[in-house]
Amino acid sequence: SQAKVFDKDSRVSTTFKDVAGLAEAKQEVEEVVSFLKSPAKYTKLGGKIPKGALLVGPPGTGKTLLAKAVAGEANVPFFSMSGSDFVEMFVGVGASRVRDLFKQAKEKAPCIVFIDEIDAIGRARGRNPNMGSNDERENTLNQLLTEMDGFDTNSGVIILAATNRADMLDRALMRAGRFDRQIHVELPDLNERGEIFQVHLRPIKLSKDIDASFLAKQTPGFSGADIANVCNEAALIAARKDKDEVSRQDFLDAVDRIIGGLEKKNKIIS
Ligand code: ATP
Repeated sequence: SQAKVFDKDSRVSTTFKDVAGLAEAKQEVEEVVSFLKSPAKYTKLGGKIPKGALLVGPPGTGKTLLAKAVAGEANVPFFSMSGSDFVEMFVGVGASRVRDLFKQAKEKAPCIVFIDEIDAIGRARGRNPNMGSNDERENTLNQLLTEMDGFDTNSGVIILAATNRADMLDRALMRAGRFDRQIHVELPDLNERGEIFQVHLRPIKLSKDIDASFLAKQTPGFSGADIANVCNEAALIAARKDKDEVSRQDFLDAVDRIIGGLEKKNKIIS
């Protein structure tokens, strides 16, 4: 169904305060918010507003979150689809979904179109034909390029796309007037992990022996998504024991559980 591919006219409540760390990336996308809120400020001197930017970084670092926050800050609709949804589609379906997505977006402009895992459709042509129908992927990619070239740069539609493999992408996507800007979203350092914990500890009933900086020290290499998981898991562990607050030990158990999960994932990959 269409609903699976993109959210219809969704207003988002996510804002920059939900995104911890990522100072540089936030600063770069703030410009996008400004383009959406006051386009005339930029176009009156003859400038062209960029059509799109690529968010590049490892899984779980907040690329989707940041794109949503841009829509939330500018108070515009957020349309999204994931490249991986197109991998196993029948001929013609991917391209027509892309067409539908842009048609809707143009009607609802100003807005953000977000394409997650763009590498699934935007992989360099002629490589890795073993995943899905290669022709169909190319059709979908070509339609995306056509749509990007087809709309007026000042139409109020800004496309954000995410990938963890920018090096795999078809160069055509990065050409001027398409995704000609790259915004890097990296794994958080110690301080940033502390900030991310602060966001995700907000709704949790904590015992006094726990704080964000202690947790940041226990979690080197964790992404924002891993940190969100730790907080949720700790709350569930405490609840299972019928406790009325979440303790340091519950968090340490949750960290162990997440590390166990990550090791398993790595084993499957390697
Ligand atoms: P993927 O590449 O796997 O799609 P992503 O980079 O798009 O990942 P998100 O989906 O944005 O990552 O992150 C998943 C969840 O992890 C978010 O909804 C949020 O709860 C948490 N998270 C990730 N990064 C941050 C951050 N910088 N600040 C706060 N929460 C974060």
